[in-house]
Amino acid sequence: MSNSAAEKLLKAYGIVRPEDIDLEAIAWGLGAKVKYRPLKCCEARICGHGDRAIISIDNGKLPQRRRFSLGHEIGHWIYHRGQLLICRSEEIGGFAGFRRGPVSPEGVADQFASDLILPSYILTPILKDYRTLNLKAVKEIATTFKASMTATAIKLVQSNRFHAMLVCHGTLGREWFLRPPCVPDRWFPQDDLDRESYAFEALFGSKVEQSHPRKIGADAWFDRAEAKNYEIFEHTFPLPNDKILTLLTFTDENMMDERDTSRSFRRGR
Ligand SMILES: [Zn+2]
Repeated sequence: MSNSAAEKLLKAYGIVRPEDIDLEAIAWGLGAKVKYRPLKCCEARICGHGDRAIISIDNGKLPQRRRFSLGHEIGHWIYHRGQLLICRSEEIGGFAGFRRGPVSPEGVADQFASDLILPSYILTPILKDYRTLNLKAVKEIATTFKASMTATAIKLVQSNRFHAMLVCHGTLGREWFLRPPCVPDRWFPQDDLDRESYAFEALFGSKVEQSHPRKIGADAWFDRAEAKNYEIFEHTFPLPNDKILTLLTFTDENMMDERDTSRSFRRGR
């Protein structure tokens, strides 16, 4: 990931600090002019002719969101020139990529935006200051990179440096989850939220961010028999459209063992 197209582009401009990532200047350098205006049918779009393009971004959205949309459209300009793409809200921002796979145009544009706004070569040295992942860390890094909480949380979990996982729920159940390679794949979150979880309360009740991570039995999130032996931390924050995103962090090393050690222990007795 360190040599992605987005990062090569940033390096070509000599960018080494988060505050120097000027997306409009990068778009301009690629022949694309950026306009912010009200858009009814979509959140962003690009209209290209030859080697010139106009990127339109809905000015009614939050600044971090507009920034991600701009990165996403620059990705389309690089990878999908000549195709007509109208990018609706649900197609920008990390969700489409998980649903449709990393090779779909929306997934490619999202990954490009993520690498452009939160480039690993600038982010990795900063992450050395963080031993554990929590929403406070996500918020600090999001502010530094002018990125959304969601885009930042996804990037940090993807970094594979933390024993953590992201799970997104809507009122109809789980929408997607992101588990890094360092977390064993037997930890597959349940479809529906457990009524005991704080996330359940956030989704169907308060709709507010939890003030701090809370400890909860792992069996509220995972239906494996061994889950009842463990506790994890959950920390939920609301997303637009009545969705919530929960950061689960694992502090019990036994959960991170590739094998289900509780089972081998029982068999051994
Ligand atoms: Zn798109």
